[in-house]
Amino acid sequence: MLSGVVLVIAYVVLVTSPLLLVTALCLHSPNELLYEIARSFGLSAFAILCLQPLLVARVKWIERPFGIDILSRFHKSMGIFLAILLLSHPPLLALGGGGWSLITSLEQPWYVWLGKLGLLALVIHICTSVFSSRLGLTFEQWRRIHYIMPPLIIALVFVHSWETGDDLKEWPVRVLWIAFLLVAFAAYTYHKILKPILLSRHRYRVVEVKQEIHNVWTVKLAPPEGEILYDYCPGQFHFITFHRGRNLPVEEHHGTILSSPAQKEFISSTIKESGDFTSTIGLTKPGDEAVIQGPFGRFSYVLHPEDNDIVFIAGGIGIAPFMGMIRHMRDMKADLRVLVLYANRSEKDVVFHDELAQMEAGEKPRLAVIHILSNPGIAWAGEKGHLDREKIERHVGPVDGKAFYVCGPPPMRVKIIDTLRAMGVPYGQIRTEIFSL
Ligand SMILES: Cc1cc2nc3c(=O)[nH]c(=O)nc-3n(C[C@H](O)[C@H](O)[C@H](O)COP(=O)(O)OP(=O)(O)OC[C@H]3O[C@@H](n4cnc5c(N)ncnc54)[C@H](O)[C@@H]3O)c2cc1C
Repeated sequence: MLSGVVLVIAYVVLVTSPLLLVTALCLHSPNELLYEIARSFGLSAFAILCLQPLLVARVKWIERPFGIDILSRFHKSMGIFLAILLLSHPPLLALGGGGWSLITSLEQPWYVWLGKLGLLALVIHICTSVFSSRLGLTFEQWRRIHYIMPPLIIALVFVHSWETGDDLKEWPVRVLWIAFLLVAFAAYTYHKILKPILLSRHRYRVVEVKQEIHNVWTVKLAPPEGEILYDYCPGQFHFITFHRGRNLPVEEHHGTILSSPAQKEFISSTIKESGDFTSTIGLTKPGDEAVIQGPFGRFSYVLHPEDNDIVFIAGGIGIAPFMGMIRHMRDMKADLRVLVLYANRSEKDVVFHDELAQMEAGEKPRLAVIHILSNPGIAWAGEKGHLDREKIERHVGPVDGKAFYVCGPPPMRVKIIDTLRAMGVPYGQIRTEIFSL
């Protein structure tokens, strides 16, 4: 496995490679400084643009050191940075001696228009990604836009730079440009076409569907006949696409793996009805099929062997990765101290109540579970209200040497992390999984 540091260095080298090559070839121009800056922005922007599909192609050796969530956020940030570089490219060219007619005149060669079209497509793409919920886009609409726009933008920017750029007259730069285009094309084709075709030939079978509470269901899946289950770490997640027929939606969604990797027959995910797709989860039946891609993520205690005094903080269905981990600790008889602070609205919303109590009664791990209910019934004698600093301090005690794992609804996750930081827990001791994109 390539380490994260090597990958980061490789990324920086690749992004700066057009500039380094142009400098090495001594392609100095007599233009003004602003013009040169515009030119550099254009060169680097093309490299960043072509590497964007690679960041989110779910390539195992790229994903493993960082985790998909970090890569997705980096991809998003680089998309915005890229848009800034490309938006400033035309005005800097104009200010640097190219003249404002570059922007204002309609009398432009076709390849300049292609560049403008590429820029417009990029701006639309970034806006629909950053403001998707404000624009009222559903996740599936956002995903369809993400299918169409990237190849279009890359093709437009490629042709524009190939025809316009002075540097692109030199064959080494042309070779580099084609290499970048091939990387983008290969990553896109692998992720969006090839991998889905390969995975759909190895469909998992639903062997059991169990209702855990009023709105949460566990689906157990067995690998295809004659195949063995893939290896995973407890707490990781996979992407599931159910093929159930009966006019039920066929959409790819994240699902944490809750089964313990210690058993090899099946994997399971526990899904809460929380929107369009997940509200159909209870309609899944044994015999239905699913395409699974995984495992992904780094939210697992086995990736942190130094953690032996652990606090799991869960909100609602955020208990999912913790169940996978605790089940694995139980199966491995792991001698760890684990405190679970599990927040829910009321008694009827607590998933896995009995199984947690059973594991708490066992010896390994040394498990303690504290339920916190914000709206309990009158008979409730446990913790009431929201999980706050006072409750965390009372149950956790001194924070030194403890590792905190947090998973829950986004506002709760942010609040808990702020609270832990205020209590003096270093960032390095806080691990978190984000259940939204
Ligand atoms: C790493 C990870 C692990 C997760 N594990 C679980 C789990 O074990 N159990 C569980 O109940 N939930 C889990 N979720 C959350 C789950 O993916 C979303 O609740 C679900 O996809 C919502 O889909 P929907 O169409 O029903 O809801 P909608 O109301 O359509 O969407 C609600 C929100 O969910 C997100 N979302 C919607 N569709 C998708 C999609 N296809 N892929 C990813 N996110 C989407 C978007 O942020 C959207 O705004 C996990 C999420 C992530 C990121």
